[in-house]
Amino acid sequence: MKFLALLLIGTPALAHSFAYDDSAHLPQSFQANQLKAVFADFKQANYEITYDVPAKKAYATATIQLATLETGNIVFDSAEEPTAVQLDGQAVSQKLVSTPSRETKVRVIQTQAAAGMHRLVITLPITRLVEFTSEGVKSAYWTTDLTDRGYLERYLPANYIFDRVQMNFKIHFIRAGAQTIYTNGVVTEIDAQNYSVEYPVYYNATSIFFHTVPANTFEEVRFDFKSIDGRAIPAVIYQAKGASTSIETQQANVTRYLNAMEAAMGPFLHPSLTGYVAGEGGMEYNGAFMASESAVNHELFHSYAARGVMPADGNAGWIDEALAVWWTSGMPALSSLQGSSQMAAHPYYTRTTDTDAYGFGMQFMALLNAALSTKGGLKPFLKNYFHTQMFTPYSTRDFSDAMNAYFSVDLDDLFLKYVYDTSKASFRETLNPRTNWRIEATPKLEHPQYSDEELQKLL
Ligand SMILES: [Zn+2]
Repeated sequence: MKFLALLLIGTPALAHSFAYDDSAHLPQSFQANQLKAVFADFKQANYEITYDVPAKKAYATATIQLATLETGNIVFDSAEEPTAVQLDGQAVSQKLVSTPSRETKVRVIQTQAAAGMHRLVITLPITRLVEFTSEGVKSAYWTTDLTDRGYLERYLPANYIFDRVQMNFKIHFIRAGAQTIYTNGVVTEIDAQNYSVEYPVYYNATSIFFHTVPANTFEEVRFDFKSIDGRAIPAVIYQAKGASTSIETQQANVTRYLNAMEAAMGPFLHPSLTGYVAGEGGMEYNGAFMASESAVNHELFHSYAARGVMPADGNAGWIDEALAVWWTSGMPALSSLQGSSQMAAHPYYTRTTDTDAYGFGMQFMALLNAALSTKGGLKPFLKNYFHTQMFTPYSTRDFSDAMNAYFSVDLDDLFLKYVYDTSKASFRETLNPRTNWRIEATPKLEHPQYSDEELQKLL
């Protein structure tokens, strides 16, 4: 898989004809009124995005090639209400429906489709995080794993996060001045008003970092990060002009953090690095981050855990947060652990990450590190896991199976006890993870969620 993925990254012509089969993690269909809601494996999604500056309007049309394995009503999602939907060339309607345990909502096409390949075309307005200025437009597709329906579907039609999709943007600026695009894809300038962005074939709805602003809005530094594997990885770090920390210091910090990660976890997994140092929060993307200065190290680690190997569902989201805090805490070991959690046991269609991950989840990783210390501890396992499974979605079960196989042990009882506890009240009732730290100097939650108001301000 590693070889294949690398080959394809370097061969754009082939990438178009390649799509991952993600049916292993395809969510089960469910009954929605009289319809059978069927999840699809998206193969390719082309987004035509228009920013009409004089009209102060932004909108997108997504053309999605997808495969279904059973006859039913296809599921997709977008926070914005679509203005038009076509399935295989026919206008169809869609409805927002609740999943069976009411854990989230998705959109369901009201026309039944046979199992097989289909073409879905969805048009919708883009209204979130768009601001038209006298010079052009500010727009971003920033995501969150802590609020439901917070990934790419917040802005554009998208699938659940199990699904790797070949995604391309065609961006059309109408009567904008010069625009800068910060993104973790390959940008091609067609002319001053038209750009295309091609993203790696293994990206999912959590992967894309996209931010466009009028040129010269930010101060930035562009440099090559020298990886331990010899690559010169193109990097850009940017921040508001006049920030109290110099951009050179931000570059030095990022380089220092990455050097430490590469020494412990092997070469950086991504072909480029994009970072926006801003505000009071943090969010990770594939080879990209948006973070306050104090959260940069945490978010960079997610380019290994979360956006290197990738959670397949909300019930796997705790793993990468637990590991990122474990890393920035100095990879501690813990001999015993009190309490339990349900971090991996939320209702089936849950998309968000359980915030117990930062505290209790990190302590659980420290417990595993201690339990496996005679076999080298977590570090060599993770280094191996990140590189043998890179860009592969995993469930909590996949992760624990991989540990069992690597260490030749059976950790199932530990996972059952500490992350799937459905037998009794959550540990929150017996142990407050924010105050009952039993590891000295454990940090507080390192990336408080950006508020919507703050994101708007940081555009
Ligand atoms: Zn995190």
